[in-house]
Amino acid sequence: MKKSEPKSGVSRRDAMKIITTGSAAGILGLFGSPLLRAETRVTSSYATGVAPIKITKVKAIATAPEGANLVIVKVETSEPGLYGVGCATFTQRAFTVVTALEKYMNDFCVGKDVDNIEDMWQSAYVSSYWRNGPVMNNAISGIDQALWDIKGKRANMPIYQLLGGKSRIAVDAYAHASGATPEAVAEGVQKYMDQGFRHVRIQQGGYGGVGTMETQPDFKEAGFGMERDSFSDQHTYMKRVPVMFDVVRKRCGEDIELLHDVHELIDPMDAINMIKRLEQYHPYFIEDPLSPENMKWLKTLRANTTVPIAIGELFNNINEFRDSMVDQLFDYIRIHISEIGGITPAMKVARLGEWFNVKTAWHGPGDTSPVGHAANGHIDLAVWNFGIQESHFWSDKAQEVFSGCPTYKNGYMYINEAPGIGVDINEKEAAKYPIGTKSNWTVRKSDGTILKP
Ligand code: MG
Repeated sequence: MKKSEPKSGVSRRDAMKIITTGSAAGILGLFGSPLLRAETRVTSSYATGVAPIKITKVKAIATAPEGANLVIVKVETSEPGLYGVGCATFTQRAFTVVTALEKYMNDFCVGKDVDNIEDMWQSAYVSSYWRNGPVMNNAISGIDQALWDIKGKRANMPIYQLLGGKSRIAVDAYAHASGATPEAVAEGVQKYMDQGFRHVRIQQGGYGGVGTMETQPDFKEAGFGMERDSFSDQHTYMKRVPVMFDVVRKRCGEDIELLHDVHELIDPMDAINMIKRLEQYHPYFIEDPLSPENMKWLKTLRANTTVPIAIGELFNNINEFRDSMVDQLFDYIRIHISEIGGITPAMKVARLGEWFNVKTAWHGPGDTSPVGHAANGHIDLAVWNFGIQESHFWSDKAQEVFSGCPTYKNGYMYINEAPGIGVDINEKEAAKYPIGTKSNWTVRKSDGTILKP
């Protein structure tokens, strides 16, 4: 007898034949046997003699229906009609991600089994020897999410089911209120409250403070840098944020949860002092008060304020979260999921957070594609330690390119419940909106010094 054959004398092939015919005798008679129950658990594509599904092509699709560069990966397979899509959006350097996918990752992936997502992630992660860069991480994310999409389609289930099923009915989301004055910001907050949102992020000035100087910056007068470079005055910013909170609280009441993003634009001790001044307005969280270079300040920040902190939007590697999560130095995980390599690594960070009561707050602005927003939503539904989800409302143009975009009702985000990731791309429509190269992140102080976001 071959090692793989059950001792009952029914060969694996015979057993599978009976099981797959679904006859009552087969089901009632054979499923009772522990040996055959074991047999049913190993019915992988290999065991049933069906050829494994292989990757035949990794394709990059770049599009900008709302102006922001979006990159989508389409993984095509040996199964006719079966493909997956994933978000690989590094909006500031989109062309380099496209090149990484077309010139390197297509060759790397073609011929590999679509089933082995973890193996694909681990091997792709070290495939360029040097790693941890945003270009490759985004390329890997596109492939990772596409493989999850394929697995969901094969299982006939939305991805969140494969991650453990729902932990909640829907995904609580925050909207963005911004304006030139605190009063304009308060008006925006009220508008979203009227729509049912329970959480609103408030920002005064472009990029939450950029351009809010009272006078023309000196570097422009001196012809330093480029005329189009943005500017921010740290002193003006720090003065205005508590005033904005005060006006919004007075106008909109105590029930609405208020969030704010510092965008790492001020010095660490200034950030700590400003957050202490915001305590009286009990923010839901203050986001990214420290740049990645200044993470050692987290301990000082934590020791000086009880305001919840969200951090990590600029992190590239899941290991960057480890120590500060274990030490409970922050409360919400800001991850741009494609930036760290997709659903597979994001799930690891999310699950680690459960042990330390650190919650998720995935990055989800307009420079995350609808596919990426859906990836956020699948994890949001599945993990216990979900916190909040950043929202984006897709334009009609974007919805002509992407079908199945997440929707919002009463402050909740809902994802399309179709098998897989639930979002698809219309390549013909996508081609109408070519991406561009004008995406630079230059913010200066008054004297011209570069500010690190
Ligand atoms: Mg942010």
